Amino acid sequence: MSRFWTDRVHALTPYVPGEQPKQAGLVKLNTNECPYGPSPRALDAIRAATDDTLRLYPDPNSARLRGALARQHGVAPEQVFVGNGSDEVLAHVFQGLLQHDAPLLFPDITYSFYPVYCGLYGVEYRTVALDRELRVRIEDYRQPCGAIILPNPNAPTGTALDLDDIRTLLEDHPAQPVVIDEAYVDFGGDSAVRLIADYSNLLVVQTLSKSRALAGLRVGSAIGHPELIEALVRVKDSFNSYPLDRLAEAGATAAIEDAGWFEETRSRIIRSRDRLSDGLRARGFMVQPSSANFLFVRHPDHRGAELHAALRARGVLVRHFTAPRIADHLRISIGTDAECDILLDALSGILGRNAA
Ligand code: PMP
Repeated sequence: MSRFWTDRVHALTPYVPGEQPKQAGLVKLNTNECPYGPSPRALDAIRAATDDTLRLYPDPNSARLRGALARQHGVAPEQVFVGNGSDEVLAHVFQGLLQHDAPLLFPDITYSFYPVYCGLYGVEYRTVALDRELRVRIEDYRQPCGAIILPNPNAPTGTALDLDDIRTLLEDHPAQPVVIDEAYVDFGGDSAVRLIADYSNLLVVQTLSKSRALAGLRVGSAIGHPELIEALVRVKDSFNSYPLDRLAEAGATAAIEDAGWFEETRSRIIRSRDRLSDGLRARGFMVQPSSANFLFVRHPDHRGAELHAALRARGVLVRHFTAPRIADHLRISIGTDAECDILLDALSGILGRNAA
């Protein structure tokens, strides 16, 4: 608290990111990073861009990267926006597209940054409860609203809607912007990008942090009708005209173009997810169906906080949320099979000792 702060800053409740530990040797399954390094072609491109040209500002429009994303998705470059992580893209989306006279709708259990952006930009919102199976029910969104945002797959639950559901949502709300946050779509969801040609109110947000293993580079994107993209460009050019630095644009472009690395890595993670689900079920956990690079799990006989702390004491970091309805769940990012085995062994130790 300070007397120098503005009222808006006094009122903020900032987002709390997962722990990035200083201590080496921990098994880090808490922030949904990729357990494998990025495409070697991305690293080569970053090295090649590390030269005297860094004295120059980057391309304010990131034309090369937007061109690569447009080719990947089969859309025009005017339908693509890029930013410094999808968090920054989302911030511009909240400011540029989601503040209207009626409230914004999003699930009660979802990405916890959404209410934070609402606080920052003064967006009125109403949450819509997930059903008993922790699934989004599209029918529950049939109510007056100014806009809708949903992650698909949802976070931290990992469950996905199919494209028919997204189509219904768009048909139900033709006059409202509908934003689908596809941070985890590459691990099993169906991308709504293919609906963009039919729905001018649809904006899809994606990131290179998860399925391209570039969380440290901070690159995210949005794809939609040029009118929606223009709103984001107007906000960006009133905030920071150069969000992507030269190294980020070079690395991200090469990463998008390396389809071979991408396909191999995501299928490895999906295989490890199936293997880890089996291991957790064998230890008595209820595992929410996941189309993401994490699992959302609960043990019927153990509190979430207790398991989280016991794993931390054994050098394994997972994510625990204290919100109502999910306080006994853990969100576990998919690691390498070796990391998942360390987690499973730690759990065997914890559950075995408590049972004895
Ligand atoms: N959306 C969702 C649903 C997320 O879980 C995350 C990761 N915390 C993001 C967006 C932001 O990812 P990034 O800023 O790394 O692109």
